[in-house]
Amino acid sequence: MNDRLMNKIANYAGSAFNCTLMLISMMAFPALSIPALSILADSVSADSVSADSAATAYYLANEGVMVSRGETKILFDPVFTNGYGRYELLPAQMKDALYAGEPPFDGIDAIFVSHFHGDHFSPEEMLKFLRLRSKIRLYAPEQAVSAMRKVASNVDESIFERIESINLTYGDQPVIFHQGQRDGDASLHQGSLVVEAAYIPHSGWPNSMLEVQNIAFRVTLDESITALHLGDADTKDAHFQQHDRYWKQPIHVAFPPTGTFPPPMADTYLRTG
Ligand SMILES: [Zn+2]
Repeated sequence: MNDRLMNKIANYAGSAFNCTLMLISMMAFPALSIPALSILADSVSADSVSADSAATAYYLANEGVMVSRGETKILFDPVFTNGYGRYELLPAQMKDALYAGEPPFDGIDAIFVSHFHGDHFSPEEMLKFLRLRSKIRLYAPEQAVSAMRKVASNVDESIFERIESINLTYGDQPVIFHQGQRDGDASLHQGSLVVEAAYIPHSGWPNSMLEVQNIAFRVTLDESITALHLGDADTKDAHFQQHDRYWKQPIHVAFPPTGTFPPPMADTYLRTG
């Protein structure tokens, strides 16, 4: 466990506007962790919980989650096919609704992929999904986008126009993207999504997984709700201290890896329902 990271996350979230903190733990990586987002499913009777009257997090599986605020909806790590015999996959009915764009998965604006591991991302499935949902943008590490290109055909070229390939390495400054309003919706101001991407190495640093690009996304929806998804980030303070000012900015909801939590708590989360 990394108490200081937990405190940091709590402090950042606690300082953020008038919004209830929803802090959810998630699995770190196949070798040691945990579909701890099941805490969300365990703690509420429905599959969703409100962060305030307008913002909602909806648990999918493993580290997959949808965050919505009004008409703005985003997905983190939603499409993967490998549970490594341990982690939950999307239930078939949920996956069908997601791919079909049926409620609550209608009107998704963007997808964020933390890293290219089979329990977070499948290049084949992501292509399939983006073929079906032609208005969704994808933000993903370069390693994931390269994998998609390897399995794409010529007819998929337009899909890559909707993809931001993020090629950060350790120590790089975080980068920022602004996604403007949707066509025909005057109620959404310019910049309905502000996307910030920071490289935090995969859990196991500095001994393993060094080659994996793990991107921590901080996404602000409608200039009102900021969600942080850390993927399988290593939790050592040193990674965050490099860009201290960046990490001190407020957030409303954090989805940290379960390696952040002590084993008894993490074990509790390791429930597959
Ligand atoms: Zn991983």
